[in-house]
Amino acid sequence: MSGQPFPIRASSLSPLFECAHRWEAIYIDRMRSSFGRRAALGTAIHAGAEAFDIARINGESISVDEACIAFMDELSNQEEGVDPRIDNLSIKDSQAIGIKLVSDYCNHIAPKFQYVAVEMETKPYDINCGHGVTIRLTGKLDRARIHSYQGGTGITDLKTGKKAVIKDEETRLPKANIAGHGAQVGIYELLYEFTTSDKITAPAEIIGMSTESSHQIAIGTISNAKQIVTGTDIQPGLLEFAADMFASGKFPPNTKSMLCSSKYCPRWNTCAYRER
Ligand code: SF4
Repeated sequence: MSGQPFPIRASSLSPLFECAHRWEAIYIDRMRSSFGRRAALGTAIHAGAEAFDIARINGESISVDEACIAFMDELSNQEEGVDPRIDNLSIKDSQAIGIKLVSDYCNHIAPKFQYVAVEMETKPYDINCGHGVTIRLTGKLDRARIHSYQGGTGITDLKTGKKAVIKDEETRLPKANIAGHGAQVGIYELLYEFTTSDKITAPAEIIGMSTESSHQIAIGTISNAKQIVTGTDIQPGLLEFAADMFASGKFPPNTKSMLCSSKYCPRWNTCAYRER
């Protein structure tokens, strides 16, 4: 890839630091990675919420039932690619969880937000990282919104999963689990500003939607997302570490990664670094 920009999708920056060797297999060597039914459920929940929010942003309206139909259609589309070994979730349970979450999102969460962009394709943004390395950021951002109290634009990202909602250690109240999402929303902030010339001035918000039996939805904020990606005067950002890997061509393994398994890693059979 010498001389060409190295493409990084917003959603792929965190996985680069989970196991770079796995990342290289998926994003450079194009080895196919599997997904389970819970990931398919997340994709389908996004589709249901997207149908609802896009209608609202266009000044139209669809019913909650129609949003649930969009969810069901996408769940059925996803089914063909699901690897049933990955998680123990039936299609019937997926449908029930998704319909509850999409309905709650449309009825109680979406009306609280004034979105200005929904599932927006952004312009590729080339960043010269020095040492002959250019990183091309790309991605389709979930949502941008006007902040409800102070005004200003901020990114909102929907996250689903078993641990998407956790208990606050002090208050014991549910809150969105923001851990590990800063890199993605930080790139969304850069891409939104580059694409629209509108400045991001409000903190990012994560809408966590638990696909566990609690079916909770909770919101959390990230105020330093862009800084995580670009760094500060005294601290390198994640892009600088990524550029070092691209410049050296070395993508180190991490056999302690949660994803180091035959279920999640397409390099599992050939990886020289895992114990046999
Ligand atoms: S097998 Fe483990 S260490 Fe090797 S690439 Fe996959 S996740 Fe990384």
